[in-house]
Amino acid sequence: MIAPLTSFDQFFELQPHGLAGYFALSILFGFCFLYFWIARNQEFFGKRFFMITNLALIWWLFAAIMELWSVVPFCKAAWGTLAFPAIGLVPVSWFLFVYRYARGETGPMERWQKALLIVVPSFISLLCFTNPWHWLFYSRASAPVSDVRGAALHYDHGPFFALSSLLLYVFILGGFVILFRAAARAHGSYRLHFLQIFILTIVPIVANIAYVFSGWTIAGIDPTPFMFSVILLLYSLLILSNQTFQIASVARDMVFETLPNAVLVVGRDGRVLEHNATATELFSLRDSSNIPASEIPGLEKLLETLMQAYQPGAVEDVLIGTREFEVQTSHIPRPFGSDDRFLGWLFVFFDITERKIATKTLKKELSVNDEKLRDMRMEHHRIKNEALSDPLTGLLNRRALSDEFDEMVASCSLEKGPIMVTVIDIDHFKSINDRFGHAAGDRALIAVSGALRRAFRREDRLFRIGGEEFVVLSPNLDIKTLEDRIEELREIIFAAGENLGLDGLELRFSAGIAERPLDRTALSDLIDMADKRLYAAKSAGRNRTIGPDGHNNIRH
Ligand code: GH3
Ligand code: MG
Ligand code: MG
Repeated sequence: MIAPLTSFDQFFELQPHGLAGYFALSILFGFCFLYFWIARNQEFFGKRFFMITNLALIWWLFAAIMELWSVVPFCKAAWGTLAFPAIGLVPVSWFLFVYRYARGETGPMERWQKALLIVVPSFISLLCFTNPWHWLFYSRASAPVSDVRGAALHYDHGPFFALSSLLLYVFILGGFVILFRAAARAHGSYRLHFLQIFILTIVPIVANIAYVFSGWTIAGIDPTPFMFSVILLLYSLLILSNQTFQIASVARDMVFETLPNAVLVVGRDGRVLEHNATATELFSLRDSSNIPASEIPGLEKLLETLMQAYQPGAVEDVLIGTREFEVQTSHIPRPFGSDDRFLGWLFVFFDITERKIATKTLKKELSVNDEKLRDMRMEHHRIKNEALSDPLTGLLNRRALSDEFDEMVASCSLEKGPIMVTVIDIDHFKSINDRFGHAAGDRALIAVSGALRRAFRREDRLFRIGGEEFVVLSPNLDIKTLEDRIEELREIIFAAGENLGLDGLELRFSAGIAERPLDRTALSDLIDMADKRLYAAKSAGRNRTIGPDGHNNIRH
């Protein structure tokens, strides 16, 4: 029988019970920190319920510590009773956490979940709080275990306690079933993860069973909350270290899996560690394949080359089936440590078939256009040449005169020498036509053009400006040399005339020279001047040249 409270002050009579008491207190503070740490950490499935479990456990621990520290039996019993809302809440919220975690659920609580959280702890609390009226939770036989001051209470459990325990065990058992099924269904690291949580949960349950059935206590109180605390701490570490259960990681996985590019993760040993769905399809890989990268059909050589001669961001093109891919290579760095060793390679395949086809088509079209442009340029050139040249002799014609002269002026520096303008007119050409016919006259004109080409230099420009009139523009040439050339020309033309085989034909010419800039600078003035001198030469008896000095150069 527990004696009633005689004074309210007795609530504050506390005794820490040495090391065990302080240890329990430090666990409590530890859990408060844990709560805030998890709250600030990343989102994971069922986090809300995990936090509620944590809060409930903090309350349970607090009540347990107060029971431990209280000296007066009545106060101990009061704290023991006050622990029950939390005792009811822990298994329910833990069950709901496991339910959501295993199903990968987030979002607001559902109505039935809220109802469970409220109804079950309230029901158990009701049974416990009303004990002084029915004595069915703890019997009147509950009493301190000894006469020592602050001794622990021995609770004589009644049927309501058994009913509450049974109810809570239903939730614990439900949680176990969920974890077990999740472990059975999951594969790889997921299965291991569920099994770890499964095994960890057994610890507080064993502690609780030991307490309920054989009265095992820690410093005289229920060991379950302490065991639960340890387990919750381990859970937290397990969940937060297992990235696979975090939402951001799941999203990253999703991106990886749904990426239209094939991705291969290859370890340092050259084996494929991971590949996404696109890669599975593209390389016909089996899901669990751990084959050497060099055995992937179509990539035998390529991957080996890329792995051996790795350059940061190396890119290589490869043909797989009918499609062309650009392979981007990167090293997978170690997540920590400064050494330059790396974990493996990441290969990403970009389908560039369409781009290549488009480029090819464009190139083809460009080359066709290039060809067309070349043809047009050639045609343009031909037409221009035709327009500027004389069809009979192939020399330039009068239309080309002004452009050629301007060009020569632009490129010819006066220090080097002047530009000589020579106008040449065949003597008595009409009579050649008259005596031998027009065709013979043409042949004679062709012979003259040939002679002009032979007598003048490459940089001189030769024009046929009229019937049997020619103009020669000679840059950087002094008058003496020019006159010598003209005399040479006279001989060549005469010989060419003889070679025409026309009996009695004597091919001779008269010439007039004007000098730029000595005489004039404009072309038309220079031609006029040279023309005047030409006619002076004609008047003087033909077959001669008259230059700027009025010198009459006759050769018979
Ligand atoms: P001059 O010594 O005074 O220069 O006398 P010429 O007969 O040479 O001069 P003229 O100007 O009287 O005669 C030029 C002739 O050249 C007239 C024309 O029939 C002839 N001729 C002009 N163009 C051509 C041509 O393309 N072919 C031929 N065969 N004769 C041409
Ligand atoms: Mg003439
Ligand atoms: Mg003439």
